[in-house]
Amino acid sequence: MTGDASLNAARRARELAALAAGEVVDVLVVGLGVTGAGVALDAASRGLSVAALDAHDLAFGTSRWSSKLVHGGLRYLARGEVGIAYESARERGILLTRTAPHLTRPLPFVLPLTPAVPPRQAALAAAGSRAGDLLRLTAGTPRQTLPSPRRLTPAETRHLVPGVRAGGLRGGLLHWDGQLEDDARLVIALARTAAAHGARILPRCRAEELVGDGALVTDTLTGERFTIRARAVINATGVWAGQLVPGVTLRPSQGTHVVLPATALGGPAAALTAPVPGEHDRFVFALPQPDGLVYAGLTDEPVDGPVPDVPRPTEAEIGFLLDVLNLVLDTGLSRADVLGAFAGLRPLLPGGGRTADLSRRHAVLTSPDGVVTVVGGKLTTYRRMAEDAVDTAIRERGLAAGPCRTTRLPLVGAAPPAQLAALPAPRRLVRRYGLEAPMVAAEAGDDPDLLAPVAPGVPVTGAELLWAIRHEGALTEDDLLDRRTRLGLVPAHREAALPMARALLAAQAQAF
Ligand SMILES: Cc1cc2nc3c(=O)[nH]c(=O)nc-3n(C[C@H](O)[C@H](O)[C@H](O)COP(=O)(O)OP(=O)(O)OC[C@H]3O[C@@H](n4cnc5c(N)ncnc54)[C@H](O)[C@@H]3O)c2cc1C
Repeated sequence: MTGDASLNAARRARELAALAAGEVVDVLVVGLGVTGAGVALDAASRGLSVAALDAHDLAFGTSRWSSKLVHGGLRYLARGEVGIAYESARERGILLTRTAPHLTRPLPFVLPLTPAVPPRQAALAAAGSRAGDLLRLTAGTPRQTLPSPRRLTPAETRHLVPGVRAGGLRGGLLHWDGQLEDDARLVIALARTAAAHGARILPRCRAEELVGDGALVTDTLTGERFTIRARAVINATGVWAGQLVPGVTLRPSQGTHVVLPATALGGPAAALTAPVPGEHDRFVFALPQPDGLVYAGLTDEPVDGPVPDVPRPTEAEIGFLLDVLNLVLDTGLSRADVLGAFAGLRPLLPGGGRTADLSRRHAVLTSPDGVVTVVGGKLTTYRRMAEDAVDTAIRERGLAAGPCRTTRLPLVGAAPPAQLAALPAPRRLVRRYGLEAPMVAAEAGDDPDLLAPVAPGVPVTGAELLWAIRHEGALTEDDLLDRRTRLGLVPAHREAALPMARALLAAQAQAF
C-alpha cells in the first residue's frame, strides 16, 4: 500500500472540490457497496485514477444486510452450478488466507440429525459436505484453514449447539465455511484500501444521470450539482442499477434475519442448520456472532414495485424464521427473544422460477453509450466481479492500465492470524480492525472513558467511534451506529449509544 487510507470530512471536501472544478478521472465508480468498493480498489491498484460515489454512505445498501458469510458455494454445487461453486470457493480462500484474514474466520456448521431430518436427506447433506470439501481442496484452501466435514455424536452435537432438541437426536453433520466479522466492515476496508491507492471515496454524492464519459452528481450534504468527467463509468448500484441505466433489469428478492441473544439458543459455538419443512435444499441458519448475539436467517421473498432505500422485515418473515428454528430446538424461541431484525434485497439477475432458485451469477453489461454495469453475484465474489468490470471498462474505453492485482492485495489491517494474535490490543478491536487495533485504542489518548463501553451492555467503545470519524469517513450518527459499528442491529443498543455518537461528532466538527 502506498498512500493514506484515512477517510474523513476534510479529505472528502478537498477531493470533491477538485472534481467539481473539472479534474478528469480514468474511472468513475457509482455505488460504494462491496461491488463498487471492490471496483474502486481494482482500478486504483492497476494505476488508474478513480473517483467512487455513493448516494448515502459506504455499505448503505444490500452489502450491510447479508448473512455475513463467505460461502464456498455448496448450494450451487447441489444445483449443478459447478462454475459458480468453484468461483465462490476460490474467492473464499483468497479472503480467508490472503486479502482479509483479519475480517474472516472459519465457522463450523452443524446439521442436527433430528427426526425432522429423514435418513435420505441426511445422506444427501453428507454427500454435499464431502463435495464441498473437494471444492475447498481444488480451490487451494488448506485444511488447517477449513477443516474437513465429519459426523458428530449426539453429545458432540449438543455440545456445539446446546439448545438442540435431545429427543430422537441421532447425531449431527459438521462442515466448515467462512464467516465475516461484519459485512459493512469489509466494504469500509475495501474503500480505505482503495483510498490508499489514490481513489477518491465520496459518500453522499448521488449520481443523477450517467453517460459513458461522466455523471451529473448532487452533493447531498450541500445540494450543489456538478458534473464529474471520466474516461470510463462503472455502475455498481446493486438493486438500484436499473434506475441509472435503461435496459438493466433485476429481480430483487428480500432476505430477512432476526437478531437473538446467544443465550436463547444455549450459547452455540457453531452455526445451527435447520431444514425448512417440505424443501430438500432450504435451511434457516442461526449464526453465532462474537458479541453474544446470533443472527438467524433467511427468507427469500420476491419484491415487486419500487425499490426502498432500507427494506423492512415483515412479521410473517420473523415468524417463519422462529418457527423453523423451533422445530429443532428444545429452548423454544418466542417473539420476545427477538432483539432486532434486518432485511436486504438480493440484486438477482432475471430468470425463470422462484427467486430462491435464481442463479447467483454476475453479469457485466455495456450500454450503447459505454456505461459499464456490474450486477448480480454476491458478497463472496465481489473481487471477481470487480476484476471483470474493470477489464471490460479498460477494453471498451481504451484505457492504459496494468493487470488485476487484487488476488494478492491485503486490505488495510490484514495480517496472518499468528501476527494478529500477538498484537498488544483488546481482542475485540483486533477482530474488527486487525493490525490497526492498537491505533484505534490509541484514539482514546489520555481519556480512559473512551476505552470503556459506550453504554452498559453495549460492547463498542468511544475510541472506535472517534476512529470512525477521523479515519473511516463517518459523517453522521447513522454512519457511526449503523455502518462503522452495527449497534443499529439491536435498537436498544443504538439508543443507548446515540448520545455518545452525537457528542463525538459535535466535538470533531469543531476540530475540523
Ligand atoms: C439477506 C441477504 C443475505 C445475503 N447473504 C450473503 C452472504 O452471506 N454471503 C454472500 O456472499 N452474499 C450474500 N448476499 C448477497 C450480497 O449481500 C450482495 O450480492 C451484495 O452485497 C451486493 O453488493 P453491491 O455492492 O452490488 O450492492 P449494494 O451493497 O446494494 O451497493 C449499491 C450501492 O449503490 C448506492 N447507490 C444506489 N443508487 C445510487 C446513485 N444514484 N448514486 C450513487 N450511489 C447509488 C447505494 O446507496 C448502495 O450503497 C446476501 C444478500 C441478501 C439480500
